[in-house]
Order: sequence, then C-alpha cells, then structure tokens
Amino acid sequence: MSDLVLRDVRKTYRTKGRPEVEAVRGFDLEVNSGELVGLLGPSGCGKSTTLRMIAGLEDVTGGDIAVGGRSMVGLPPQKRSIGVAFENYALYPPLTVAENIAFGMRARGHRKAERAARVADVAGRIGLSDILDAHPAGLSSGQKQRVALARAVAREPEVLLLDEPLSHLDAAQRDVTRRELRHLQQELGYTTILVTHDQEEALSLADRVVVMNDGVVQQVGTPDVIYDD
Ligand code: ADP
Ligand code: ADP
Repeated sequence: MSDLVLRDVRKTYRTKGRPEVEAVRGFDLEVNSGELVGLLGPSGCGKSTTLRMIAGLEDVTGGDIAVGGRSMVGLPPQKRSIGVAFENYALYPPLTVAENIAFGMRARGHRKAERAARVADVAGRIGLSDILDAHPAGLSSGQKQRVALARAVAREPEVLLLDEPLSHLDAAQRDVTRRELRHLQQELGYTTILVTHDQEEALSLADRVVVMNDGVVQQVGTPDVIYDD
C-alpha cells in the first residue's frame, strides 16, 4: 500500500458572471500507508472538492497530490489507483450487482476469469454474495452503499475515498456497516480518507481526524485529542 500526500492543494471555482469561490485554500495532509483519516467539517467547507481533486474528477488550481511518491496531478481518474465510493455515486440500474462491482476493472486490464474471481471475493467480504444477480432498484440503501464500496475496492486501489458512507442508513444499519467498513479497511490495509459531517462517525472510525473549515485544515489529531477539545 502507499501513502497519500497533499501539498498546498488549492481550488478556485471560476464561473462566468459569478464571484470566484476559493473552495480549497492551501490544503496540506499526509495520510500514512494503511491509515484511515476522517475528514470532518461543516457543509461547504471544501471536503467534496478535495476528494474530487484526489480522484481526478476536478483539476487542482495549484499544489500537488501524490500517491506512493508519484504525482497524480494531470492524470485522468482511470490512470489513478484510487477507489471512490461517493454519496451520490449512482450505481448503473441496468447492471446486476456483480456487473456493477466488476465495472471499471476492465479498464485496468483484468481478464474475465480474474474479474469474476475478484467480484466473488469482494462480495464475500462485504456480505453481498447472496444478491450478486439482483439489480440496484431492488436493494435497500444499506445494500446499495455496500455495492458502491465493493465497486471501489474491486479495482484494488492504493487509496480509497469514501464520501459520507453511512449517511443514508438508519441507526441499526449504520452500526453494522461501520463495523464492516472498519474491518474491511484494516484487513485489506487501504490508505483511506472518509469524509463526513458527523463528528461521532469520524471519531469512531478514524485513526486520525482532520477538521476542515473554510478551505483549510483547522486541526489534525487522533480521535481522543479531537474529542477532548
Ligand atoms: P463540502 O463537501 O464540504 O460540503 P464542497 O467542496 O462541496 O464542500 O464546496 C466547497 C465550496 O465550493 C462551497 O462554497 C461550494 O458552493 C463551492 N463549490 C463546490 N463545487 C462547485 C462548483 N462546481 N462550482 C462552483 N462552486 C462550487
Ligand atoms: P456536497 O456538499 O456533497 O459537495 P453539493 O450539494 O454541495 O454536495 O454539490 C453537489 C454538486 O453541485 C457537486 O457536483 C458540486 O460540484 C456542485 N456545486 C456545489 N456548489 C456549487 C456552486 N456554488 N456552483 C455550482 N456548482 C456547485
């Protein structure tokens, strides 16, 4: 696994006829190999923009993003070894769960037999083995969220990005999914950033918590340190 380093990352949105928005204003962070960092902050502080820049879905205005010492800046999403499970990252309705999980692996050069084995393995780990032939429309939100997670890890990314992974779940589902997520991340050793606006979620899951405010890092610490403040 690899570390993830963000150095002075900036994003200014410029839309014609509207004032500029400095969404991210010099973001510095080192996520160690295998570490789960919780990125916490109020709505509009720049969390999603930061994730999208790491994933390559948004260009950086300045700064550098490197995975395992290699700069990702300028590379398209499919050339980055990054798995994303975003809150609004829709599953493809016509595809089965298995096909959704396998989606994206082809581009990375996996062969058919390899893809099938990988889908079965990931589905087993995330508790989706019984619903591989189902379509997204018939699934609960908890199941959909797990399929999105399975799709992200099926690519065997070096870095995993999770945007509000528990947000649409009820309290009971949230507890189960939180435990599964933690287990999966530890077992597979992914370098992970988990975005949330929920302090409890960040503190319960993360090795370290980064508090973001108005486009910058306001505080970084282990959950106990952040909790005491
Ligand atoms: P968060 O994920 O913390 O809610 P965002 O990264 O979505 O924050 O947004 C940070 C700021 O950038 C907000 O002021 C938001 O309105 C603005 N913003 C986000 N995306 C765009 C965009 N595509 N164009 C213009 N402004 C944007
Ligand atoms: P989040 O808080 O999860 O980032 P938002 O509802 O803020 O979600 O943003 C949803 C989408 O709208 C994103 O793709 C973002 O780029 C876009 N967006 C957010 N704020 C603005 C804005 N001020 N102008 C244009 N697009 C925006």
